[in-house]
Amino acid sequence: MGTSDHHQTDTDPDFTPSADQLVARNREFAATFADHDLQVRPLRRLAVVACMDSRMDTFALLGLGHGEAHIIRNAGGVVTDDVIRSLCLSQRALGTREIILVHHTDCGLHRVSEDTFKAELEAELGIKPWWALESFADPYADVRQSIKRLHHTPFVQHKDDIRGFVYDVRTGLLQEVTLDTNGN
Ligand SMILES: [Zn+2]
Repeated sequence: MGTSDHHQTDTDPDFTPSADQLVARNREFAATFADHDLQVRPLRRLAVVACMDSRMDTFALLGLGHGEAHIIRNAGGVVTDDVIRSLCLSQRALGTREIILVHHTDCGLHRVSEDTFKAELEAELGIKPWWALESFADPYADVRQSIKRLHHTPFVQHKDDIRGFVYDVRTGLLQEVTLDTNGN
């Protein structure tokens, strides 16, 4: 930190890269691989948009099997332009018709100050991020915001089956979030 170039050169004694170990595990995985026949089009015609949180195994928590759904993940499970890009392809080219949003409790984006985060980046790097961090104060309100964005974009054409949930990282349970009759 604090050097003039942007590359992080500090060594962290508590960190060891995992890639070599994971490639070895992949060899074991491939030895019993049984998914040769899966089609590119998701069987349930479902796309899931979820936070990248490491505690959420999206397939497992929804009881999904391989090949059943698209899983689109980012920090927060936010409906960004890039998520809309993925959903547009998912619906138009790959036949999905249902969207499930999964945000969660104890999110890394929860209560981060967007302004402070951006000011720190600008002070440190000399460049202000051109993207929104999309931090939020309430995961339930954030799910509503995401549902509303899906209803507003023209690029997501199939909107009849959009459901939103907050996953509780302590219990493993989903709680549904719905819009009121005014769409809020
Ligand atoms: Zn999260």
